[in-house]
Amino acid sequence: MKIIRFQSDDGETLWGEVGSPTDGEARLIEGDLFGEFHVTQKTAAVKRLLAPVQPPNILALGLNYRKHAAETGVPLPDEPVLFLKATSSVIGPGEPILLPAAGPGEVDVEAELGIVIGRRVKNVPPAGALEAVLGYTCANDVSARDWQIRRQKKQWARGKSFDTFCPVGPCLVTRDEIPDPGSLRIRTILNGEVLQDASTSDMIFDAAAVIANLSKSMTLLPGTLILTGTPEGVGFTRTPPRYLAAGDTVTVSIEGIGELTNPVREEGNL
Ligand code: ZN
Repeated sequence: MKIIRFQSDDGETLWGEVGSPTDGEARLIEGDLFGEFHVTQKTAAVKRLLAPVQPPNILALGLNYRKHAAETGVPLPDEPVLFLKATSSVIGPGEPILLPAAGPGEVDVEAELGIVIGRRVKNVPPAGALEAVLGYTCANDVSARDWQIRRQKKQWARGKSFDTFCPVGPCLVTRDEIPDPGSLRIRTILNGEVLQDASTSDMIFDAAAVIANLSKSMTLLPGTLILTGTPEGVGFTRTPPRYLAAGDTVTVSIEGIGELTNPVREEGNL
């Protein structure tokens, strides 16, 4: 099932089921997405897609793809590399990514498979970990490289938590439709040019391993968004580097989920 969160014509925020996020109309979902819910026969027009989740936590992995670790010149980690990304950075499809007024930023893109946790888990073994998943979505772990690497001395959280730096969407695809999250094509397209084109099979720690590992240290609450790392091809590893500029349009595309597209603007110039 493809689930969207959207604004209707009369300004309500609703959950709906769609054949495709571009359908323009959704069948309304009643109940609790993280408990019991059902799809009704009622429909509503989709005025605007919203981020499909409002996560209580965003847990993000650095260096979780072999070829991306290689392009950054860092050895493969033997434990998942975790950082927290501010929940206030979440935006939906079509909302602008804002280049910070605080400085040039060297703002870069990272296509990532997002895992949305469906039920509270702690110390879950890898064998049962995927049962905790409600579904999967596309995410862009937008990163200000100068803040991430130099100004904050490799403390990543700040450079990855600027307002608008976590586009999510366009929908949540329930896990029954994605039996193997470890074999999906994942791409970034910037102004029509493909920057990243890889497979989630290049992940060092797969979805089940990531959930099991993170749940050792913290309870994974319903709605938690886990960003599973980005493949090779990001802008800062290129010669010359390729950073976002006002007027750009960036799309994260994941097989079986859809396309998450956001324009890029200067902050304070909307
Ligand atoms: Zn990332």
